[in-house]
Amino acid sequence: DCRLDLIKSLVRAFPDFPKKGIIFRDICPILKSPEALSAVISLFEQHVREKFQKVDLVVGLDARGFLFGPLLAQRLGVGFVLVRKKGKLPGATVSVAYDLEYGKAEAEIQEDAVSPGQKVILIDDLLATGGTLYAACALMQQQRAEVLGCLVVMELKDLNGADKLKPHHVHSLLQY
Ligand code: 5GP
Repeated sequence: DCRLDLIKSLVRAFPDFPKKGIIFRDICPILKSPEALSAVISLFEQHVREKFQKVDLVVGLDARGFLFGPLLAQRLGVGFVLVRKKGKLPGATVSVAYDLEYGKAEAEIQEDAVSPGQKVILIDDLLATGGTLYAACALMQQQRAEVLGCLVVMELKDLNGADKLKPHHVHSLLQY
């Protein structure tokens, strides 16, 4: 698929960022290219339409999930919900703690963000250990929403994030 070739050609690798030993995959050039950003969203849209009958919400992860999530939600004609790092959302919230590839964090949503039984798709830029998406899935389940699956632009295969997220469905556009 030439859309995948275009996206792949624009991902940049930065060794030793943000810490020594980490190769950071940078998606900024994708956002800077209207063709590439559109390719990402159409590939996600195509996958969701083929795989799921009904979607109620797209749920994006802080922070790069916010760049792709709302565009996908608009294409699907559904709403968008934010999973944020702790302390950023006003009003009543629910949160869950988790480990990152580098460090610790807490993920939070507004208590009224999702309703019981709603079918949600989670989206982020990159799947590493799966800790971040796992926490977001836990939040969704705590609120009794139904997680249909997780979408990421990139997946770091060696870290087995997709295994951690089982039985949830994971779809990545690029694998490293
Ligand atoms: P995980 O929780 O799966 O270990 O890490 C995934 C989270 O860390 C995602 O929210 C992602 O944005 C961020 N992340 C970790 N490594 C990278 C990377 O190399 N590139 C980008 N763009 N994000 C990363």
